[in-house]
Amino acid sequence: MKNFFMALFTFCIIPTTYANDAVKSYCKSVSFSKDDSIYNEIAKFKADMANAKEVAAVADEALSNLIAKKSPVVTSWIKRRKLDVNDPVNVARQWRLYYVDNIVLSSGTFSERPKVIQKLVDSEMSEVFSNLYTKEKKSLLKKSFDIAKRDAINVLKLLIGKDEAFKEIKERIEKISIFTPEKVIGTKVEKAPRDFLEWGFAYDPNSNQINVGLDGLNFAYPKYQASLVSLMAHEIAHSFDSCRFSGFYKNKNPFTSIQSCLRNTSSVGAKKRDDSQLAFLVQNNIIKKEVAQNLLANPTCNRSLYPLPGKQRDQLDEIFADWFSAEVVALSGIDLKNLRSELCLEKDLSKGSSYISNEKRLAGIYLTQPTIAKKTSGFLGLLGGKDTGFKYCSN
Ligand SMILES: [Zn+2]
Repeated sequence: MKNFFMALFTFCIIPTTYANDAVKSYCKSVSFSKDDSIYNEIAKFKADMANAKEVAAVADEALSNLIAKKSPVVTSWIKRRKLDVNDPVNVARQWRLYYVDNIVLSSGTFSERPKVIQKLVDSEMSEVFSNLYTKEKKSLLKKSFDIAKRDAINVLKLLIGKDEAFKEIKERIEKISIFTPEKVIGTKVEKAPRDFLEWGFAYDPNSNQINVGLDGLNFAYPKYQASLVSLMAHEIAHSFDSCRFSGFYKNKNPFTSIQSCLRNTSSVGAKKRDDSQLAFLVQNNIIKKEVAQNLLANPTCNRSLYPLPGKQRDQLDEIFADWFSAEVVALSGIDLKNLRSELCLEKDLSKGSSYISNEKRLAGIYLTQPTIAKKTSGFLGLLGGKDTGFKYCSN
């Protein structure tokens, strides 16, 4: 019974910390809760991995080597976690979990792991995948993706007309597919196993696919279908955002006026990338000259390690993808119930993040889109024409 009430309690969200009136009203009218079963399954998988004798053996060996060398890595790790060195059993247990997270599952190193561990990761993760990506969820994902794709093309037709740029974008969008992982060995999951456990939706330009990580399954319920379509449309937009446009496309970017509107502070004021350290990084050989030239030629592109942590990343393309996704759900005529209700939960952003706050995403983009504003105030009467305080960017 307790669990029932807990579930009921966590389902209703009434955030009160947002200051924007339109957002406050909107968030009172929608709900969102994360699916705990996803995280329980991941935690169980990691614990099983850490306890497996193949992993425990290499993790323990690594730990004793580091201790023998009096490595600062291990002493600072113990300090950070406030572990008791007089409790070696607990230290070893925590270390194995850490080892699984940061070594076994880390990006780009799968092929360096012993074959037995590769096989173990493959079989255990495949099981997690088959437990969580159920037939119903996959079918809802596909259905939502198909709507997003169809209406993305319709929005483009409407906004930019059937010119050469439209044809070029359409051609790329038509080839996008969604990727839901099934196994590890021999698939793209090998490159970054942990990403698939932690991430939601991500556009992968190399394969022209939308990767669906386990976090994305939080939305794979009919009650969140509007969000699902919006999230898919957001990823589709990344296939022709300003960074990709400067890299992939022959035609002129047809969205430059929208993008300069999104930069404006009367709209959400997308911040520009901070290149103030670039010359220094080149002088000190931290960034190669050709890489720097490429960065300068593509001023809205961020790299995983550039700008350096804490320095401002360019925000235009995340905002543009939100803006496009709002246009898609507005046009598609789908039921907007709980649209992007997860944004009602505050999210901590790192300094210089390429994202703006969740509150601003809702107020400045989604609730400012006229059709969305009308529909969301219509069926609940709560938004009641409250002004979001942001300019709507349109062609
Ligand atoms: Zn994005």
